[in-house]
Amino acid sequence: MKQNKHKSKNLSIGSRIAIATATAIVVALAIIAILSSFFRFFTPSFYNFSSVTTNNYSLLNQIQWSQTMMNITDQLASDNSESAKQQILRDITKDFEKLDTNIYIEKNGQHYFSNIGKNDIFAQAQKICKTDLDNSINYYGDNGLVIVNKLEARNDQYKIIVSNSKYTVKPTAENNRSQGIIRLIFSKLGFVIGMIILIFILSIIIMSLITSKTITKPISLLAKGANEIASGNLDYKIDYDSTNEVGTTVTAMNDMTSKLKESIDQRNKIDKSRKEMVAGLAHDLRTPLTSVKGYVEGIRDGIAKTPEKQAEYIDIIYSSTLDMEKLLDDLMSISRLELGNIQLNLEKTNLISFIDEYTEELLPQLEQKGVKLQITKPEEQNVFVMLDTDRFSRVLNNIVSNSLKYSKKEAKTNIELSIQNYEKSVIISIEDNGIGIESENLSNIFDTFYRADTARTKAREGSGIGLAVCKEIVNLHGGTIWANSTIGEGTTILISLETLKEEQ
Ligand code: ADP
Repeated sequence: MKQNKHKSKNLSIGSRIAIATATAIVVALAIIAILSSFFRFFTPSFYNFSSVTTNNYSLLNQIQWSQTMMNITDQLASDNSESAKQQILRDITKDFEKLDTNIYIEKNGQHYFSNIGKNDIFAQAQKICKTDLDNSINYYGDNGLVIVNKLEARNDQYKIIVSNSKYTVKPTAENNRSQGIIRLIFSKLGFVIGMIILIFILSIIIMSLITSKTITKPISLLAKGANEIASGNLDYKIDYDSTNEVGTTVTAMNDMTSKLKESIDQRNKIDKSRKEMVAGLAHDLRTPLTSVKGYVEGIRDGIAKTPEKQAEYIDIIYSSTLDMEKLLDDLMSISRLELGNIQLNLEKTNLISFIDEYTEELLPQLEQKGVKLQITKPEEQNVFVMLDTDRFSRVLNNIVSNSLKYSKKEAKTNIELSIQNYEKSVIISIEDNGIGIESENLSNIFDTFYRADTARTKAREGSGIGLAVCKEIVNLHGGTIWANSTIGEGTTILISLETLKEEQ
């Protein structure tokens, strides 16, 4: 039952309209059937069809006459006693006798019932319609009415003759008008028109009932949902479970709301991170600045007296200014990159030779820090790419410095730099055995000011800018940068660049 309900909920709007229309038609046809039986069985007595009320011809009058003749023949054929039959015939003929109508009934050629003599009625009837009354007749004329009916019932032959010389087919002015309306109401055309109007009205009522229940209800749910979302309630979910058109719109709307919520949450997170970083940067600029100020004062006030002491102070001052320079550099490059103010100096470069030169310079520094660098290169010695070598070195520096920064304290740091050459592209990967990144943070580490480990607030330990700079530069090269990582095992940063054919 529940499943059926569920299925009907999934009906497409097209099917619903088709079912509504079909139902409307079926109901209307049923009503026609009921009304027409009502018309057949009850209207004769309601409109007094069974007794003759006038000597003027009309459709109604003709129906009255045929109904009266039917009552007479039914009575003759019935199994009532003879006396009962005679009594009922007297009752039936009473009404039209008042209109000077004569009747004569023969049974097997013998008189059976009459209100006039045989010769008189024959003379009158023959005068009216000028025939020999041997066959059945229904004559409604200007000069009178003659009806002759023959009936065979229970092995008896009956002949019923009815005549009225005062009957006329000429309509009176008064009759004419009312008959016109009655004729229309009771004509076939009138009936058909009436039924069409009825079908039309019923179809509209049924269709609108079904439509309002099955279509407008989910649409109003949708409208309510849209209002909730517009008023900022992004947790609101429209509750309508169906696979039809409205159902898919509801699903799309719910998806849209959760994506909107996700992106707003993400934005808020980045905004928060940005604020924290600005605060962190301000704080961390202050630390080397205080140190510079302190040591400069030391020299000025003669605290560092010996040339050795002075040289030591100057070294500390120099290293503090380097720290400040790095922070400001990071900030400047990301703002320039984000503003699109950087033009790359692209040159066709052999990536293998570039990496050789880069690692040659890097190795001594790493060795000094006890870090092992392993390099894997393809067999192909000429892999050409369009490169801004200065900026690309910066990208590699940022990645390598992250591998050092996020290394495990307890283990020796290993970095593996490898190049894989494919038909149209080359992938440079830098893998470390550091602390790794939680998978939920992986997609965000390339966002400006994003730091996976927010517990670290000291700017020098991470400003959240390095990988954002890498992403901007790699993108400017037309390449892609992404990361794989397993928490506790290490991180791999991968860069793919389009390669050039040697002759290009
Ligand atoms: P930061 O200056 O904070 O290092 P980055 O943009 O370079 O900023 O990196 C963003 C964040 O990604 C870092 O804060 C760190 O949490 C994470 N991350 C980057 N590289 C690594 C890595 N090799 N190992 C572990 N975490 C990393």
